[in-house]
Amino acid sequence: MRIARTLDELDREVSALRAGGRRLAIVPTMGALHGGHVALIGIGRRRADRVAASIFVNPLQFNSADDLARYPRDEASDLEKLSAAGCDLAWLPGAEAMYPPGTVTTIDVGGPAEGWEGAHRPGHFRGVATVCTKLFLQTRADLAIFGEKDWQQVQVIRRVVADLNIPIEIVPVPTIREADGLAMSSRNRFLTPAERATAPRLAATLDATARAIARDHAPGRAIAAAIATLEADGFVVEYLARVVPETMRAMSEDDRGPGRLIAVARLGAVRLLDNWPVAARGA
Ligand code: AMP
Repeated sequence: MRIARTLDELDREVSALRAGGRRLAIVPTMGALHGGHVALIGIGRRRADRVAASIFVNPLQFNSADDLARYPRDEASDLEKLSAAGCDLAWLPGAEAMYPPGTVTTIDVGGPAEGWEGAHRPGHFRGVATVCTKLFLQTRADLAIFGEKDWQQVQVIRRVVADLNIPIEIVPVPTIREADGLAMSSRNRFLTPAERATAPRLAATLDATARAIARDHAPGRAIAAAIATLEADGFVVEYLARVVPETMRAMSEDDRGPGRLIAVARLGAVRLLDNWPVAARGA
């Protein structure tokens, strides 16, 4: 696996990877890699001829200095995992390569970026949209692989690519979970043993709620019951809602169409994010 740390190095490596019309996939990450990231590399390998992964803890998408400072960083182990997963190129820009002095341009997304994570983490999607657009242009990739774990992020990136005519295909990958259902996340390492034991209740509750709604239980009541269950389990629920999967708009009570349950629930200091499909009601 090749490693690039400057834009010049990246340019050379990308040209070599894309020689002869080979298709390149990019997997944007913030490092602290786990099985979810490895799965994205695997899909990249299946869907393209070469795969690059970026590791960049993007300061622009953090709305809390504390959260940024304590975000896990483990470059040596990340590089081993990427190499073992069959990644061809690791792109490890420093902040000065990504945002050189004088940078003043960012990308503001409306629509799917407005609620939920966009409302709870002001500026978050501006940071995500800006860094992903830069990564797409820097790597000239044909495909970009994203995890459905961050459902709203996928919808936001799809909008950015469509609205700005960026010639790249966005490929979503289903969430990779621990054996007990907990969605893999770089932040799970901060759970205490007791919190770790409780954490799978989030996915289990979303699953049960999605099933209840599909069986034609009233969505509002089912969601209120889910929030009460989670809070009784010790979670602090920031939001739990049924949304139109692409627009991220909250679905009205009488909307019977397929939807997505999206949720953020905190256990102690850890913010757990998850989502679940909801079949059309009574279908
Ligand atoms: P992150 O490093 O958390 O910014 O995530 C980098 C990419 O990995 C994003 O596209 C995430 O959605 C994806 N990802 C993170 N966790 C998972 C998971 N458990 N399953 C699938 N994809 C994931």
